[in-house]
Amino acid sequence: MKLGILGAGQLARMLALAAYPLNIKCNFLDPTADSCAAPLGTHIIKEFDDESGLAQLAAENDFVSFEFENVPATPLQSLANQVEVYPPVKALLISQDRLTEKNTLHELGIETAPFSAVNSLDELHQAVDEVGYPGILKTRRFGYDGKGQAVIREKSQLAEAWKSIGEVPATYEGFVNFSREVSIIAVRNKGGETRCYPLVENVHRNGILYLSTVLENDPLQQQAESMINKLINELDYVGVLVLELFHAGDKLVANEYAPRVHNTGHWTIEGAACSQFENHIRAVCGLPLGDTQVNCPVAMINIVGDLPDTNEILKIPGAHLHLYDKTPRAGRKIGHVTVCATNNNELQSRIKEIGKFINW
Ligand code: AMP
Repeated sequence: MKLGILGAGQLARMLALAAYPLNIKCNFLDPTADSCAAPLGTHIIKEFDDESGLAQLAAENDFVSFEFENVPATPLQSLANQVEVYPPVKALLISQDRLTEKNTLHELGIETAPFSAVNSLDELHQAVDEVGYPGILKTRRFGYDGKGQAVIREKSQLAEAWKSIGEVPATYEGFVNFSREVSIIAVRNKGGETRCYPLVENVHRNGILYLSTVLENDPLQQQAESMINKLINELDYVGVLVLELFHAGDKLVANEYAPRVHNTGHWTIEGAACSQFENHIRAVCGLPLGDTQVNCPVAMINIVGDLPDTNEILKIPGAHLHLYDKTPRAGRKIGHVTVCATNNNELQSRIKEIGKFINW
């Protein structure tokens, strides 16, 4: 079997590595010549909306998937007429626009922060009257890792915030007073069977994910599963889906979803019976889903910016190093470390030990 992937970054690379033992070959469309997944398959070096590139991807593969949300949706829709594309383009379209995304979650009864659409400075004034302070102004499109956002605490900041996000269509949402950020990952196959991984607690640095720790038997697991199940069924979804959540008081509040394999699921390569990457491949290619059971206490730490002393990391028991073959650059994810342990105390001390070498 052959799987075409739009994008040839680290997520495509880890998908291809998971596909290989199943005799599934991955091929990529990506305009960047030295993309890090490229050595693992055929690489069509063309823009994501290039008609001939997309036609080649459709012709040469049995299924097509994508590794990031900002794939242009219109060409993908016409691609879906030529070849099976999963996750469904509808799921991608909704996630590309924060307003549509929040409306979808709201309509499904999935709690979110209060929010309001903003298309002008006047509308921002109306939105803060409705939602209150503090809040966050976020561009509707192309935001990631905290980009295109401004926190607003008082009236004097409105004009500056509107200017700082580039005066483009946005949402204003109330600030959630959360105790921690968590995410849940689910996978659904074409027959509608769904499996969830356990909740993961996520810690960020400078707006970028630093640490994900798996929360086994968390009391909020059922709540999170019921939220993501509503979404995954509504979207008639196929593949891996992640829902990012805030834990506030005794409940979960949804922030956003991503229709793809996700950084907060990288721990599954060593930490779960079947990884998110393999499960995505299985779902997209119509194979039976794999077990989402956790193997051991486990966490994942991102490597961002400079390459740390990898020999020191490799000496730490239970540490598994993944480098993406990307040139180090400030703010760039170039790898991650999964760390497994036999108990939670051991896990915490190994996380600390690894943290001594990974300090971005
Ligand atoms: P996002 O781009 O929506 O994932 O937001 C990036 C980060 O900003 C999140 O991981 C949170 O730490 C923070 N954040 C976003 N929205 C809210 C909110 N409504 N309340 C509190 N913090 C938020």
